[in-house]
Amino acid sequence: MIKIYNSLTRTIEEFKPIHENQVMMYVCGPTVYDHIHIGNSRPIIFFDVVARFFKYLGFEVTYVSNYTDIDDKIINRAKEEGLSEAEVSEKYIAEISNTVRALNCLPHDANPKVTENMEGIINFIQLLIDKNGAYVVDGDVYFDVEKIPSYGQLSQQSIDNILTGVRIDPNQRKRHPIDFNLWKATDEGKQWPSPWSLGRPGWHTECVAMINKIFKGKIDIHGGGTELKFPHHENEIAQAECAFNHSLANYWMHNGRIELDGEKMSKSLGNVVWANDLLAQANYQIYRLLILNVPYRQPLTYRPELLEQAKNDFEKIYRSYVSLYRQIELSQIRELEVDFEVDAIKQEFIEAMAADFNTANAITAIFKMVKLSNLCLRDKDSSVSRLLHLKQAFAEMLWVLGMEINLAPLDDADKDLVKRWQQARRDKNFNLADSLRQEINEKGIIL
Ligand SMILES: [Zn+2]
Repeated sequence: MIKIYNSLTRTIEEFKPIHENQVMMYVCGPTVYDHIHIGNSRPIIFFDVVARFFKYLGFEVTYVSNYTDIDDKIINRAKEEGLSEAEVSEKYIAEISNTVRALNCLPHDANPKVTENMEGIINFIQLLIDKNGAYVVDGDVYFDVEKIPSYGQLSQQSIDNILTGVRIDPNQRKRHPIDFNLWKATDEGKQWPSPWSLGRPGWHTECVAMINKIFKGKIDIHGGGTELKFPHHENEIAQAECAFNHSLANYWMHNGRIELDGEKMSKSLGNVVWANDLLAQANYQIYRLLILNVPYRQPLTYRPELLEQAKNDFEKIYRSYVSLYRQIELSQIRELEVDFEVDAIKQEFIEAMAADFNTANAITAIFKMVKLSNLCLRDKDSSVSRLLHLKQAFAEMLWVLGMEINLAPLDDADKDLVKRWQQARRDKNFNLADSLRQEINEKGIIL
């Protein structure tokens, strides 16, 4: 049984898919006007792990994440860089998708773009108008929040509280100060024709329209960073309630934000850790270990020491896994010996993941696997069949966290070197064994 903390109900719930053995999930993607920083990369990594875990358990997963490729920020960046908006968005989509691949994320099933879904978005806004949940003022379209009695359900606040708590746009054309923009008449940037004006859609309406187009109804999981709860996800739910009488997703999941020494990361203050800069210092396994070491709902405070810690931790995982791999590679045995201890650790890993994706506890289980592997590797009585079982379970666990270690087999010369060393040890020819061992170490072969 998989349990998920549902932000909408604020409780841990048992996961029950809409369609048996299938998971439909959508995670709000980036607005493509800049590189992604470590904070943006947390949902990318975490929800990749969610998708991986469901796949590991045999679910058929459809994972969609959008690109917001039209927005004021893109228009401003286009002006700064002397490019068209399309050139800015294409440039950053290419760059961000490279970063996502470098983080070893599985490919998404779809990455819809706003500019490629304009007809569906316009039809969806018209549906909201037809349902009396939206109104037109001078070519703009606004959503009428007062039409939705449950507005505020996700962020747990009443309309009155929102009014006192947030900076209100003093737009006099709206019926209510927190009504939000679905369509914006504009003569700036790229515009599309619509029944209301030449303009472009508001951010909050894009995801709902694209989810509806792709999934044709309610989905299982909607994810994103906690900063998207209000107003973005609240507004997504309000539109889905108005258009379809449901809350868009059965489970709303939000990851905590990443802070730098207790401060919010801010591009304007210049305190940003870029994903690509971190990837230049560490491989994806280390990067993911750093992120996944903290349960996803908790805030994560980034410090350079965390990176050093993750490097050291991954080194232990790596050495242990590679040793297992090589021992098996150098023997001819391919049968598996089922080992109770291995299965118990694997079960612990699965249970940690099934408990609202507790990756921190899952990593603890991985370190138990490291310990057991190292013990078995030192134990001369360990059979290779047992090591094989260990390695398989170890590899599965690493795969779920997206930290798989891909190794090339040793070439014949290296294999021969190792075999000569093993023979020298058996012959008790210690001088020869020592010099061969040194050669092995110099070649960087881990045994
Ligand atoms: Zn969204």
